[in-house]
Amino acid sequence: MSTPAPLPAPLVDRFARRITYLRLSVTDRCDLRCAYCMPERMEFLPRAEVLTLEELHRLALTFIARGATKLRLTGGEPLVRRDMIELVRALGRKLGDGLEELTLTTNGTRLAEFAEDLAAAGVRRINVSLDTRDRALFEQLARRDSLPQVLEGIAAAKAAGLRVKLNTVALKGLNEAEIPDLVAWAHGQGHDLTLIEVMPLGEVEGDRFDHYLPLDSVRRDLAARWTLTASEARSGGPARYVDIAETGGRLGFITPLTGNFCDGCNRVRVTATGQLFMCLGGEGKVDLRAALRSHDPDAALAVAMARAMGEKPERHGFVIDRPGAPPALSRHMSMTGG
Ligand code: SAM
Ligand code: SF4
Repeated sequence: MSTPAPLPAPLVDRFARRITYLRLSVTDRCDLRCAYCMPERMEFLPRAEVLTLEELHRLALTFIARGATKLRLTGGEPLVRRDMIELVRALGRKLGDGLEELTLTTNGTRLAEFAEDLAAAGVRRINVSLDTRDRALFEQLARRDSLPQVLEGIAAAKAAGLRVKLNTVALKGLNEAEIPDLVAWAHGQGHDLTLIEVMPLGEVEGDRFDHYLPLDSVRRDLAARWTLTASEARSGGPARYVDIAETGGRLGFITPLTGNFCDGCNRVRVTATGQLFMCLGGEGKVDLRAALRSHDPDAALAVAMARAMGEKPERHGFVIDRPGAPPALSRHMSMTGG
């Protein structure tokens, strides 16, 4: 009787955290210029440096073989990459065969065009970023007048049967006053919403400190208005949830600054150039593109991934503690996809 081939070992870091969630950035490019995310004159990577569709697919399959059950495609804006939907279709075929969930994070501008294709490929849930429903404020925040397309995209996703979760970066003096309305609207539409604290990643024109809004204060304000009940629900990410009795919906909080969530980290991120970042808040990375393009990619990827597991830090070191401080990291969120 032949001996079955050994199963590839799961990915476990040195703090015994099992890595089951890959966030894969398919492009660093974007059609918006959210002021907290990137400068207007953002320098994008030369296309030759970006992984091909085949390379992205192979990388994703390698992670799935090593125990990643959840895969989130992100960017930059994933839906601006022309061959993106082919990748989604190819990865959709792994659902039920190692992969449990295939999802993406999008700004929604091109969602109306792709919602049905995404659903047909097996995507069930998507995250759409929406910081405001006020068209003038949207244009101020995203530096593009694209709110109508985004709202159309959200409606198209719902019509295609996708579960939509909205992500909203909480910004003092900008969308701060609108947060209750945004939550009530989202819940009225049947969408959950998660609030995010702005993180000091990459140079932008303004000072993020000016608009940093700690979510503990937002939560206190919302609790004065509505009945919030802490929920045990988890989405596999860092958000912590409350149920709101009056709106009948769920509200998430992602609090990298005011509430560290690193203990249960199950994630790694790969950029569009194949750099594996072990932590959103750290500089540490391992070059998977070099491994992919070596003469023995399988062996080289195994070595690179083992190194990454040995180097994943225990926690991030973000702070936004004073005006004028430089970003904690030079890398923009659009490289690692949030
Ligand atoms: N373009 C897509 C989008 O906007 O959904 C996907 C990539 S974007 C980098 C992912 C998420 O990161 C978005 O929800 C965005 O609001 C958030 N984000 C970007 N820069 C951020 C920052 N400096 N701090 C906190 N969140 C940020
Ligand atoms: Fe683009 Fe998303 Fe960054 Fe906005 S947050 S500029 S949509 S990558």
